[in-house]
Amino acid sequence: MLLGCIADDFTGATDLANTLTRRGMHTVQTIGLPRGDVPAADAIVVALKSRTIPAADAVAQSIAACRWLKANGARQIFFKYCSTFDSTDAGNIGPVADALLDELGAGFTIACPAFPENKRTIYLGHLFVANELLSDSSMRNHPLTPMRDANLVRVLGRQTPHKVGLVSYAEVKRGSLAIADRFAALQAEGVRHAIVDAVADVDLENIGAACMSLPLVTGGSGVALGLPANFVRTGRLKQRDGARPLAKAGGLAAVLAGSCSAATLAQVAAMRARAPAFALDPMSLHADRGTAVAEVLAWAASRLERGPILIHSTAEPEAVSRAQAVLGREAAGALVEESIAAIARDLVARGVRRLVVAGGETSGAVVSALGVTALEIGPQIAPGVPATLSYGEPRLALALKSGNFGGPEFFTEALEALK
Ligand code: ADP
Repeated sequence: MLLGCIADDFTGATDLANTLTRRGMHTVQTIGLPRGDVPAADAIVVALKSRTIPAADAVAQSIAACRWLKANGARQIFFKYCSTFDSTDAGNIGPVADALLDELGAGFTIACPAFPENKRTIYLGHLFVANELLSDSSMRNHPLTPMRDANLVRVLGRQTPHKVGLVSYAEVKRGSLAIADRFAALQAEGVRHAIVDAVADVDLENIGAACMSLPLVTGGSGVALGLPANFVRTGRLKQRDGARPLAKAGGLAAVLAGSCSAATLAQVAAMRARAPAFALDPMSLHADRGTAVAEVLAWAASRLERGPILIHSTAEPEAVSRAQAVLGREAAGALVEESIAAIARDLVARGVRRLVVAGGETSGAVVSALGVTALEIGPQIAPGVPATLSYGEPRLALALKSGNFGGPEFFTEALEALK
C-alpha cells in the first residue's frame, strides 16, 4: 500500500476511491476498520462514520485507522472530509487533523476541500458552492452540519487551538514549487494548518505535487487528484488505466434516499414522476417505528418484482425543521437512518442486489446494517460517485451518493450503471 486514507463518511470514501482509481491507483474501500484479509491495493480508503459523532470518538476511530494503515505499509496518510467542509465548531475536522499530526509526529498539514468538478472552489480562504458563498448555499440548512461561515480559516480556527494560515491563489497559481515554499514559510511561522485556495483541477494537481513529503494531507477528494503522480514520480506506482468494469450483481433494484440536500430533492422529484415511491415520515416512525417500517416493506414487497422502487425520507427544509423541533436534530437523524437501514436489510433479504443510496450518513447506516466490509471501485457514474461492488456474499452493486452530488436524473443513471 502506498496511500492510506481515512474518510469521515462513506460516500466521501467512495468519492475519494473514485478519484484515486481514475488516476491509476488500484483502490479498495473498507467499511470501518479493516477486518480479516483486505485485498491488496495501492490505496486503501477506510470509511468511517465519524463526521458528526463526538470529537473524542472521531479522534479515537481515526487514530485506530491511521495505525492500521501505517502498520500495513502506508507511506502517506490522507484525511478526507466533505467538499463543503461539513463540521461544527465542536469538530470534527480540526480535532482529527490535530490528533493525526501528533500520531504521525508531524507539525504541518493542509486543509483543501476544493472540488472544482463539482463546483466547490476556494478563493482567499472562502469556500464557494457554484456561484455562492458556502454560507449562502443550501448548506446553511443542512440537518446536521449547517455551514453559516464561508471563511475556512475562521471555521477551522474555531476547531483547533493551533494557528491556521492561508496559501492564497496568487501563490497557488505559481505552481508546485512556489506552493511548497509557502508551506515551509507558514510552518516556520508556527502555522499548523493551511487552507489552500484552488479553483481548477490544475491547481489541485500542483497542490498535490507540493504535498509529496507531507506525512498527512487533509481535504476533499479533489486534492487527491495530484497524489498518485507523486508515487509514479518516485517509481513506486506503475501508471495504470482507470477503473475496470465490475462483475454483474443482477437481482432486484431499489433507491433509498435519506439526504435532504438540494440535489437529492431534485433527484427524488424526478424519480417520483416515473417509479413507485414511498415517502417516510419521521413523525410516524417516532410514533411506532415497527408498524411504520412494516408498512413500507409491505408496500415494497408488492412492487419490487416490477422494477426499481424509491423509498425516501427526503423532505423540504421546512418539513425537516418541523420534525427536528419535536424530536431533536440528532434523534430525528438517527431515527431516520436506523429505519432506512432496517428497510435495506429487508430488501436485500427479498432479493435486492442493486442499491442506490443518497446521503452520506444514510449510506453509512445502510452499508453497516448490510454487513458489507469492503468495496471494489468501478467506473464513475457522476463526478464523485463510482459504481461499486461489495466483497463477500451476497455481492451487492452499490452506488453511494453524497447528498448534493449528481444531476436530476442521477437515480436512473445509477440504476443503469449497476447492472
Ligand atoms: P447528506 O449527504 O445530504 O448530508 P446525510 O444522509 O449525510 O445526507 O444526512 C442527512 C441526515 O438527515 C441524516 O441523519 C438523516 O437521517 C436525516 N434526515 C433525513 N430525512 C429527514 C427528515 N425528513 N427529517 C429529519 N431528519 C432527516
